Amino acid sequence: MEHMPIILTEKISIGISLCAMGGPVRYNGKEIDVLSSLGREKQDFIWCPVCPECQAGLGVTRDPVHLSGGTGEQVWSGEAEVKNRAGRIVTKEMKQGSLECIEVLKRCNANIFIYMDGSPSCGVYKTTLKNTKRGNPPGVFGSLLLEQRYFLIPCSDLQSPLKWWDWRRRLLAFHWFSHHQLTSMKELYETWYMLKFLCQELENTWARAMGRTLAALDKSEFSQFEPTFRIQVLDLLRRPSTPARITNSLWKHYSHYRKKKGKKVEEIHSPEFKRNVTTIAKELLKMERTAVEDEYLFGASPVIYRDWHRMKAIEEKKLASIEHNQ
Ligand code: SF4
Repeated sequence: MEHMPIILTEKISIGISLCAMGGPVRYNGKEIDVLSSLGREKQDFIWCPVCPECQAGLGVTRDPVHLSGGTGEQVWSGEAEVKNRAGRIVTKEMKQGSLECIEVLKRCNANIFIYMDGSPSCGVYKTTLKNTKRGNPPGVFGSLLLEQRYFLIPCSDLQSPLKWWDWRRRLLAFHWFSHHQLTSMKELYETWYMLKFLCQELENTWARAMGRTLAALDKSEFSQFEPTFRIQVLDLLRRPSTPARITNSLWKHYSHYRKKKGKKVEEIHSPEFKRNVTTIAKELLKMERTAVEDEYLFGASPVIYRDWHRMKAIEEKKLASIEHNQ
């Protein structure tokens, strides 16, 4: 059976720290706009910006806040506080603001969040931009995002075309699988086939072991095994790949495409060919486009977003080519 890519035609909602999409809401009234790096692709998503410090009522401009006596998690358990530069305790306000931001994300149906790292609020792995010992990650809002198992992307990674390509294909797969209900072992096997090439690239040893486990499973074990399978695959999809693994995977899938379809894509090169990350990202996008047009499963990027206008244009091009060849 020929496998095709999974095409999503509905836009996905993504939460984002407001100051990372150009909202001038940092304590000093500044911002950065990481979404401008995406160019036209910015239109492919519904963005849901939130700012826990503004939601806390701290205003702009304001005294910067910091974690005092522990991590964001310990703020929630009552063992640490959030203080501003003047020493005022703003823990209660920050908790309220963070909870309200989670409510906004839920109303947006966003289970993916792009966070500003280095913030005592939105930070996940860093809660300060300076090399000081003040506060320990995660931040107050970052801690909630982790607890609620959001798919988390640091905003700085949007500025690298290759890192963003890697995040985008994994977030699309994560979103699709999070909403894809499985009711039988047959559906579980089909899902694994769609995701296994990406999983193999991310963690080959784990993916091979999962393949063996699935092969040995009995149909009667489906209900018991499905939750474990889901959690493990979704957790793996959160983990970034590396340029070396991505280029190897691109070449492996492209070689298979060439053999199967008997066609070449001149722009795609072998892993030994020296080029920068921007060129590699362009090759990956070209392979994705080719895969959609030729109905070929590019296993490194099994879930693709195309709005229905573009899908209609692809269908029309195919029809015209069939008519031309008749
Ligand atoms: S890092 Fe978060 S809390 Fe701080 S300004 Fe940006 S959005 Fe607001």
